[in-house]
Amino acid sequence: MKKWYAVIGDPISHSLSPYMHDHWFEKHGIDASYIPVHVEPKQLEQALRSMKLLGASGFNITLPHKQAAIPLLDELDETARIMNAVNTVALENGRYRGFNTDGDGFVRSLLSYPVDKDRALLVIGAGGAARGIVFALSRAGFTDITITNRTFRRAQELADETGSKAIVMADAEAHLSEFATIVQTTSVGLTEEALPLSLTHLGSGSVVADIIYNPLETPFLKEAKAKGCLVLNGVGMFVNQGAIAFEKWTGIRPDTEEMIQLITEKLGGNYVNR
Ligand code: NDP
Repeated sequence: MKKWYAVIGDPISHSLSPYMHDHWFEKHGIDASYIPVHVEPKQLEQALRSMKLLGASGFNITLPHKQAAIPLLDELDETARIMNAVNTVALENGRYRGFNTDGDGFVRSLLSYPVDKDRALLVIGAGGAARGIVFALSRAGFTDITITNRTFRRAQELADETGSKAIVMADAEAHLSEFATIVQTTSVGLTEEALPLSLTHLGSGSVVADIIYNPLETPFLKEAKAKGCLVLNGVGMFVNQGAIAFEKWTGIRPDTEEMIQLITEKLGGNYVNR
């Protein structure tokens, strides 16, 4: 019987997940489809009950439901528990199990670049995405992680939980050249021409990542590139979080590099093969 999958969110019409998963289903000859479903917060409980009733084999959860969905699922994987947020649900023995693939998706994307796990890495931001990323970086063996955030207290809390260090923004700006890898996780640059911190002291040898993917090149990445850094946008994270979900549903590891190219082109950019 044909299987079906979905992504639920509010808004949802902009989502590229249906394009990505339908492409992979077709490529691997899997008789399944993936649909975007607009679910408002007040409809979430009813929507999740309906998913089960109507036999969804799995689904993704996007903003603003990533936390609210937790008590409505049957089981939670460790990744979702740590992040207190779910982005992927798989049907296992008739039960919906929630996962969070965002952090591991980012790490897979980062590891396609020449990064040294033992050299200093700075995470800018301490929100939901940063949380998943810092835990995933630690799990992946990164040994020297420092977090900075506009609201320092949040950086300190995340550092305490993960055995990382926290510094205030002004110190991060002053010592930027000491970080071999810099990961920008705030929403700054999404809608405005602004930087989360000054890049005056950025050296040319760092790998600089921004998890925003639309725009493909934030002001932060533009400036880092102008300084000679190797830069990485958020498309790789988006594609890899989707690939990990796809693996959970089908057991198949899809081609992420081809999808990064397709999504980049869909967003109006030019794909550069590394
Ligand atoms: P949250 O709201 O949880 O966190 C937002 C973060 O941005 C906080 O650290 C916040 O700092 C900081 N911030 C917001 N405004 C400013 C500002 N004006 N100056 C400095 N810092 C600021 O959001 P998420 O962590 O869920 O998402 C963050 C970004 O990650 C979004 O842009 C989203 O699009 C992107 N994302 C990308 C994904 C991908 O697949 N590529 C997946 C998930 C998210 P403070 O604590 O001080 O408020």
